[in-house]
Amino acid sequence: MTADGIVGEFLALKSETDADLLAMQCGDFYEFFAEDAEFVGDELDLKVSEKSSHGSTYPMAGVPVDDLTPYLKALVERGYRVAVADQYETEDGHAREITRVVTPGTLLETTDPAAQFLATITVVDGRYGLALADVTTGEFLVTTADAVADVLAECHRFDPVEVVPGPTVDADALDRIREDIDATVTDHDESAFAPGRAKRTLREQFGEAALDSVGLDDRAGVAAAGALLTYVEETGVGVLDAMTRLQAYDPSDHLNLDATTQRNLELIETMHGDSEGSLLGTVDHTVTSAGRRRLREWLTRPRRDRAVIDRRLDSVAALTEAALARDRVREILGDAYDLERLAARATSGSADASDLLAVRDTLALLPTLADAIDDSRLADSPLAAIVDRPDREAAESLQSELDEALADDPPGTVTEGGLFQRGYDDELDSLLDQYESAREWLDGLAAREKDRTGITHLQVDRNKTDGYYIQVGKSETDGVPEEYREIKTLKNSRRYTTAELDEREREVLRLEEARGELEYDLFCELRERVAARADLLQTVGRTLATVDALASLATHAASQDWCRPSVVEPGPLVVEAGRHPVVETTTDFVPNDVELRDDRGFLLVTGPNMSGKSTYMRQAALIVLLAQAGSFVPARSATVGVVDGIYTRVGALDELAGGRSTFMVEMSELSNILHSATEDSLVVLDEVGRGTATYDGISIAWATTEYIHNEIGCKCLFATHYHELTALADHLPRVANVHVAVAGDGDDEDITFLRTIEEGPTNRSYGVHVAELAGVPSPVVDRSRDVLDRLREDRAIEARGAESETETTQAVFDLSGGEFGESDAAESDGGELDPATESVLTELEETSVAETSPVDLMARVREWQERLGEGEK
Ligand code: ADP
Repeated sequence: MTADGIVGEFLALKSETDADLLAMQCGDFYEFFAEDAEFVGDELDLKVSEKSSHGSTYPMAGVPVDDLTPYLKALVERGYRVAVADQYETEDGHAREITRVVTPGTLLETTDPAAQFLATITVVDGRYGLALADVTTGEFLVTTADAVADVLAECHRFDPVEVVPGPTVDADALDRIREDIDATVTDHDESAFAPGRAKRTLREQFGEAALDSVGLDDRAGVAAAGALLTYVEETGVGVLDAMTRLQAYDPSDHLNLDATTQRNLELIETMHGDSEGSLLGTVDHTVTSAGRRRLREWLTRPRRDRAVIDRRLDSVAALTEAALARDRVREILGDAYDLERLAARATSGSADASDLLAVRDTLALLPTLADAIDDSRLADSPLAAIVDRPDREAAESLQSELDEALADDPPGTVTEGGLFQRGYDDELDSLLDQYESAREWLDGLAAREKDRTGITHLQVDRNKTDGYYIQVGKSETDGVPEEYREIKTLKNSRRYTTAELDEREREVLRLEEARGELEYDLFCELRERVAARADLLQTVGRTLATVDALASLATHAASQDWCRPSVVEPGPLVVEAGRHPVVETTTDFVPNDVELRDDRGFLLVTGPNMSGKSTYMRQAALIVLLAQAGSFVPARSATVGVVDGIYTRVGALDELAGGRSTFMVEMSELSNILHSATEDSLVVLDEVGRGTATYDGISIAWATTEYIHNEIGCKCLFATHYHELTALADHLPRVANVHVAVAGDGDDEDITFLRTIEEGPTNRSYGVHVAELAGVPSPVVDRSRDVLDRLREDRAIEARGAESETETTQAVFDLSGGEFGESDAAESDGGELDPATESVLTELEETSVAETSPVDLMARVREWQERLGEGEK
């Protein structure tokens, strides 16, 4: 079906764009037609009416021109891309064209203070290029990676809202990107990713010298960054000028945190997707949104360079000690507006007068902040250098330029005057003089006319339809002079005008219009001058954000009594009285020590379920992460050897993955860790092999321990319910056992978790112990212990990597694992069970304690004992 008229125009424009929706201006409204109208009707609850066009009818939904922004935001934040066609005047009426395409990654109007990254991904010569830009702040980064997993890990740190993959990204990688990253995936002009074209685009934006200094010789990085610029330009948001610098970074400057680990450690949000209860949610005391963005960046991208870490720690230490100065600094920062965002609003031409006032007032904070630092105990800290970094003179001159220009309380529109102060522009001043004298004449008119005519009920006023008029009460209309011309009769009065009043009115209107136009021009010029200093605004903005983030870390450290970690490279991890940074805020936390040294780099952590194993290991990982982010840590003292990465996997039952079996997920995470971790990494394993049969599980856990100990040689914390693994500590030199202490002997009704970590393995099998507590008759419990001991004696496996390779150690298949299969056991290592024992064990396994009465149970156990006695003969 083809359509003519306005709907035809809409459909023609729609076919030009690959956006999901089109909003087309029709006079004072933006309209959606046809399918788009029905769609937005549903999504946004807009009223859908019918539009007849040349014999057909089409659904139509519209929003007033001035109200488009919130609707656009709502659509784009739901992941849709919306093209906007604006109307313009032509000689014969008007025409329309698409002026911009608003997409999740290029939405400038966002009110969400979090960073909003757009990512482009491409592959050149087998390498991945990844570019990331936040158009709302002008931040623009590029890097390269060898594998798609690394690209995904980087993406997780930045959490982009929109990803634009290039044509060279293969289907498998594309699937993983779609699956793993919660972002709108957009196709874009393939040619933009061509390295030659991309390089030209970058050169145009940043100049040759800037490109060289970034050292972008990697074609994949160039292609991704160039394509990103083209994409931003094509969407027409007008922020290219805010993208003042391109920062190439090497992921190896930062702590490796794969996507799973970032999720497991609940850095930004909890497993349930809440920000409360995450690390950031807990330690964030920033007072500006830019500060929060900076803190988020530090926590997701901790550093590896000890010098950088120490410098940050120096600032945090100084701020922690100087409480008064810290409060003063935070109070000053509390008045700051988001300068990076304001820079983007200035360059895109969307900043209004109050935005420029916000720029002025925030620039003015810089010297105030510098003075507060210089006059306090912070004077000798690196903070003094941090606030000195921006060009203070340039900031001051822009600030005073704005101060001299702008009126104190400007209106919300920029087209109707009232924006500037007297003395800013001669032409404007003369217009204002004329305007004021015209207004004075008008203001005095009523009094003069009363005097002249003797009419008492006379007033001069103005409204939209009548313009200026003289209003006279009905009782006195007989006495009006003859030059009064009546324009309206009301119930109690009449309105008049005069030739002179008409002329003055025309003058006022002309002056108002001229003033509006002149002020608008002056404002645009001023805004462009501000836009030209986008880099200055960004530098000052980042400086304030950095100080805010540092002060936030110090505030938390002071309030929670955290300590400065001693960061060494390379070195052990020694934590005295450490706590979990999040759990300690809601629980009466029992502090624990952690000690991972060269000669005991691998801790096997045992203890019953819910005793605190997982918390203990996460606490260790988070202490390392916080230290490398430049933060104090929750401990009495801590020595943190710099690691190159933290890798974690948590219990299979804790995490559900769509589609794949949890055991498959568990194993692919393990595989990733065993491939990626190096000697300098920290690995945290919370149960391995739990998602499969006991034999399988313990075998994998066993072999994993050996591999990490012998081949990788990294620091490792491994919690396991396979109590049997603890025997490995006697044979592998770097493996040590720790366990979570439990109070209560077998006679107690319940076990009390003490939450204290102690040296050595757990001293009992909790499976049998729990059976006992549950009231399983003592003959069964006793016999279970017996069987367990026997099995232990029987199942000896040699520990690889043991000092003497021929040494053997015990591995017993845990009864509590529920996968007891003694016929397999017999096959697997030749242990011989006589048929009588075998049949007893089978029956033992099959007996349902819950469904058997105690008397029956006792009888059966007695019978089993007899049969076993026979078997032994
Ligand atoms: P596990 O990994 O052994 O099953 P978790 O680490 O999940 O146990 O801990 C179980 C519960 O104990 C959690 O609710 C946790 O908050 C609490 N907990 C753990 N360690 C401590 C501690 N040191 N002090 C206080 N509470 C703790």
